[in-house]
Amino acid sequence: MTEREIRKAIVENCLKMNSTGLNQGTSGNLSARYKDVMIITPSGIAYEVLKPSDLATMPIGKNYGSWEGPLKPSTEWRFHLDIMIDRPDVGGIVHTHSTYATILSIAGKEIPACHYMIAAFGGPTIRCADYATFGTEELSANALKALEDRTGCILANHGMIATGANVAKAMWLAVELETIAKQYYQSLLIGGPNLLSNEEIANVKERFKGYGLQDKKPANSSRKTKAAAKPRAKAQAKPGAKARAKPSAKAQVKPRAKIQAKPRTKPKAKKRA
Ligand code: 13P
Ligand code: ZN
Repeated sequence: MTEREIRKAIVENCLKMNSTGLNQGTSGNLSARYKDVMIITPSGIAYEVLKPSDLATMPIGKNYGSWEGPLKPSTEWRFHLDIMIDRPDVGGIVHTHSTYATILSIAGKEIPACHYMIAAFGGPTIRCADYATFGTEELSANALKALEDRTGCILANHGMIATGANVAKAMWLAVELETIAKQYYQSLLIGGPNLLSNEEIANVKERFKGYGLQDKKPANSSRKTKAAAKPRAKAQAKPGAKARAKPSAKAQVKPRAKIQAKPRTKPKAKKRA
């Protein structure tokens, strides 16, 4: 990807993060690796007005903390930069204050192996990093510790971090993290989850390696079908994405105009005391 494409992808994913309810307001921040620099969202800007040229750049590895850009980088540049330095496999990072991950972080609860999708995070738990003030070195150190052998974590009384090979994959994992957080939270309300064993999570992790990688069509097969001609790149890239990639027939049904057209009744004016 070119730098221009990466900048565009960051802005698009910021908008997606808020429009899908994964984040709200100016909370959260995104970064991506481009060669030996990190491109990161500026601090405190409304995503609706964010332009690709507003993003800041910071060198990875040298001149620690120096930056260039029209606006100051996110206050969380430390953990973004420290993760990029520590984990050369990471090309994109998403930090959000999504509701369910944050609820668990407020309760100081790590997420156990309540669903097999936890294997996408690298192990049988999604750890909760100890609390530290936002933007501090201490928060970065705590986050790095929670991310050991993991692709995501939650941050006590704060939110979550998800990482990936690029910003789109990190965003996919952030959605998965919020989903599993919600599932775990709700299972606690009905008596608690039945947990999967460490062995089963290791087994699932192994199976994910081949997930979505369709076998090549045999050379002597007769006709090329449309599906064979166009492999679905999205489903191949991410375990778990397949189900969402194909909207159900129900979802394609036209919206019922009658219901939408019905005017909403005005709320009654409040009486003054
Ligand atoms: P920034 O607006 O500085 O990125 O901060 C938002 C945030 O989530 C801090 O933790
Ligand atoms: Zn935050």
